[in-house]
Amino acid sequence: AQKLHLLRHNVLSFVSSRTGSDLTRRQYDVIVVGGGHAGTEAAAAAARLGAETLLITQKIMTIGALSCNPSLGGVGKGQLVREVDALDGLCGRAGDSAGVHFSILNRSKGPAVWGPRAQLDRERYRQFIQSELLSTPRLTVLEGSVDELLVSQPNPEEPGHHRVTGIRLVDGSHPILSSSVVLTTGTFLSGSLFMGQTTSPGGRMGDAQSCAGLSYTLKETLGLRVGRLRTGTPPRIVKESVDLSLAQLQAPDKQPTPFSFLNTHTRCKPEEQLPCYLTHTTPGVERVVRESVHLNCHIQQDAKGPRYCPSIESRVLRFPGRRHQVWLEPEGLTSDLLYPQGLSMTMPPELQLRLLREIPALHRAEIRTPGYGVQYDFVCPTQLTPSLQVKSTQGLFLAGQINGTTGYEEAAAQGLWAGVNAGRTALSLPPMALSRTQSYIGVLIDDLVGRGVTEPYRMFTSRAEFRTYLRPDNADLRLTPRGFEEVGCVTLRRYKKAVSVRDGLQEALMALQSVALSSTRWREKLGNISLSENKSTTLNRKQCWTFRIEIYTVYRPHCEKQSREMERIRSEESLSLPSDMDYLSLPVSLSQEVREILDRVRPNTLGAATRLPGMTPAGIIHLLNYVLRTG
Ligand code: FAD
Repeated sequence: AQKLHLLRHNVLSFVSSRTGSDLTRRQYDVIVVGGGHAGTEAAAAAARLGAETLLITQKIMTIGALSCNPSLGGVGKGQLVREVDALDGLCGRAGDSAGVHFSILNRSKGPAVWGPRAQLDRERYRQFIQSELLSTPRLTVLEGSVDELLVSQPNPEEPGHHRVTGIRLVDGSHPILSSSVVLTTGTFLSGSLFMGQTTSPGGRMGDAQSCAGLSYTLKETLGLRVGRLRTGTPPRIVKESVDLSLAQLQAPDKQPTPFSFLNTHTRCKPEEQLPCYLTHTTPGVERVVRESVHLNCHIQQDAKGPRYCPSIESRVLRFPGRRHQVWLEPEGLTSDLLYPQGLSMTMPPELQLRLLREIPALHRAEIRTPGYGVQYDFVCPTQLTPSLQVKSTQGLFLAGQINGTTGYEEAAAQGLWAGVNAGRTALSLPPMALSRTQSYIGVLIDDLVGRGVTEPYRMFTSRAEFRTYLRPDNADLRLTPRGFEEVGCVTLRRYKKAVSVRDGLQEALMALQSVALSSTRWREKLGNISLSENKSTTLNRKQCWTFRIEIYTVYRPHCEKQSREMERIRSEESLSLPSDMDYLSLPVSLSQEVREILDRVRPNTLGAATRLPGMTPAGIIHLLNYVLRTG
């Protein structure tokens, strides 16, 4: 009955917002601007924390929309999804509900760097996110466009420091007041769309750019430094027009592995999963790209694009003569479209068709919607604290693509953490940070606020120094208890589940430690599970447990070594660093960027060095060893 009541309440909010009735007189604890991957996690997290939250987005129907690729997870990104789930976020469960092709990437490597990934049904994903938000207590959704951030100057003696007090909508209606605002406007800030020689204002095809007033407040009133980035998306192809017999079939895992720690199986049954197909570019593709360069405004722009997800134009021009992979991915269970991953392009539509038809499997391809590019403003994230709050503006949090990242998972992870901190600020609780030794979310935020971005940032396992500990299999044990006990964003149900898993594993490990057997006998006892073996067969309950125990045992020595190193750093915090140290030519493994910062700042102690932007735990260990060695 309570759920029904809530649902009714939220639907009413939803409907009244659409019909323009007077919702806007209220004051909220937290306002989230933007209903994309960052905004939905931020709004849900703030509401879970207990904050009365308002999510304002341009179009309710696009809440949870996948602007580009119909997939979630992957190497590094899958770890983020697991961590968002461990903190009770939405995207993991949405992925389990919408997935139509599940696979674990990187299986040939150790389980620490496996990447859970799924192709998604776009409609199911959107529906799941929307229905979750509708049934979230303390969360109201309003359709509208935010034109202005309201700020005050708390202290006249601190020029340049502000406090956020609310927002104003573009329709000129009453201001909506709030002590915390989370901006998650994605590619919409001063967004421009590109196709061939045509440019138009917009945040995404079919959606207007963010109102100019918002950019003005950020740049002029708050004085924030803003940069420009770009990205693009491929044409969507009519499935029937593709000759799939000329492409290589890529089957999903026989048994889908859910993203969420709450799920034992996915909504899509193993036998219902859809395949992907692999094909390649030909010299004809390169020819079309070269012939169309002068007709392609987007690639002539200076703004940096995503290095690891480049357009076909960038790939061909950077690596001439190469054959490039093209994945033909399903867009959903009932969709008649295919998504050609690897063929993001911005040339005129007629040339896009010519290019596609140079690929044998696509020689009769028909395009439903052409590819296009988008260029947008991002706020340089070094202006944020580790809680994702703007340093100079109390109560203003930024998350997602607005911080210079690319990808749904990176956006969701930041959104969740910004929502947590916006909620805590509104409830007069101190902000919280996640360290890079604890989580990929911590690595992501530390990289952003410490080093900033020069190109769209995406997550990789190589960014995490502690990746043998930050595994996808143990995200619940790493984060869920803290999420409940300290942060307040995890529900009791999930907490109880994580605690029972933790206790069960501890008990099992203690029991096993008292038994001495050869490794062969252990394998027999544990049900013949091997880390190197393909886990595509169904794991029963006992096997799941033994699998987790085996992973834990394999990585334990390494994790213990890392935690001893962290302890060493903590105990040597007051160690003095020589004032005349030549950081630029120090014979230890440190990035050039970190050397330059050390050289400029010249920290007095090791502790001060650990807090420098861009300094990693591995870098500190190298520095510590060097100082101790050279006396
Ligand atoms: P979004 O998901 O974009 O959500 C922003 C939301 O804010 C939207 O709902 C919008 O309506 C709302 N909004 C904006 N301004 C206002 C306002 N003033 N008032 C109210 N609401 C507002 N990612 C990849 O990883 N690889 C790719 O190849 C890739 N290509 C892309 C190509 C295109 C053309 C686009 C548009 C995006 C692409 N992305 C790609 C990026 C991916 O979509 C984003 O990383 C992800 O969606 C970012 O999430 P977000 O929440 O920050 O923003």
